[in-house]
Amino acid sequence: MASRPVTDPFALEPGGTNAIGRMLAVLGDEWSLLIIRESLLGATKYSDFSRLPISHAVLTARLRSLVRDGLLVQQVYQQQPLRAGYLPSAECRRLWTVLLSIWHWERTWVDRADELPLMRHRDCGEEFAPMLCCAQCQAPTEALDIDARWGPSGGWARSVPRATTRRRLRSDDQPGMFPQTMAVFGNRWSAAILGAAFLGTRRFSDFQSRLSAPAPLIAERLKVFCDIGILQAAAHPKRSDWSEYHLTPKGLAFYPVVATAIGWAHTTYHGDEGPALVQTHRRCGAEFSPLLVCDQCRKPLTGTAVEIVPPRGEAVARRG
Ligand SMILES: [Zn+2]
Ligand SMILES: [Zn+2]
Repeated sequence: MASRPVTDPFALEPGGTNAIGRMLAVLGDEWSLLIIRESLLGATKYSDFSRLPISHAVLTARLRSLVRDGLLVQQVYQQQPLRAGYLPSAECRRLWTVLLSIWHWERTWVDRADELPLMRHRDCGEEFAPMLCCAQCQAPTEALDIDARWGPSGGWARSVPRATTRRRLRSDDQPGMFPQTMAVFGNRWSAAILGAAFLGTRRFSDFQSRLSAPAPLIAERLKVFCDIGILQAAAHPKRSDWSEYHLTPKGLAFYPVVATAIGWAHTTYHGDEGPALVQTHRRCGAEFSPLLVCDQCRKPLTGTAVEIVPPRGEAVARRG
């Protein structure tokens, strides 16, 4: 029998952390992302998840918090002795767009020792890359095609997870599967800084004043983004606080991850105040919501039509 928490884990409190902040609290933990990925690939039992290079203590804690957050649903599959498994909730199954976008960005832009596997689109049979389009007009869409402004529940303070809700771990306790995605999502201020860059913030002093964050913290996070090539610094000849930071092609290419994550947040968390961020697609004038399309056949992708091509050539079904 499936059981869900009594309180709605997707309800937003008026004046509290908004949908973006709540999303970052969940996706900012790499173990949680990897457990969600395994769940979407069909893992249900504790022993399925323990294939991850994860300690029992961390796995137990993450499974419990994912159930509490409404992403996994506990299900008893054997009465004697009592054994329970974990199924992805409907909200969790919709995260495939975010995971696919992360996979594509890491595969394209991050040098790594172990190649990420290719993906195949069942509808056309081709190895493919996801292409971000506007759900309204279906045109391919990039970061620069979008106008964004805060909605009624917007603002920086409400868009970062509360410090106390983050699952704090030393960095060497993290698996390092999506290292650069985690450099963005895994730190409450990093996500805000990248968000500000996508909203057009360039100057050091503007990052500082818009985010109301201490200068050393902003400087440290901007340096990390420059080191991994997401931002590029251009020093002002006279005033160091006027140094400008621009998104590089690699930084701009991260936008599908941002767009699918924010799209997921807005369709998943609900409250009475209205959206945190309103994005408009300049080309058609409609409110932007993301659609992922196969770059080979141009058909919209669905979670069930995407499969991993393992190194040995044997296809593993992806459930979703
Ligand atoms: Zn459009
Ligand atoms: Zn296709």
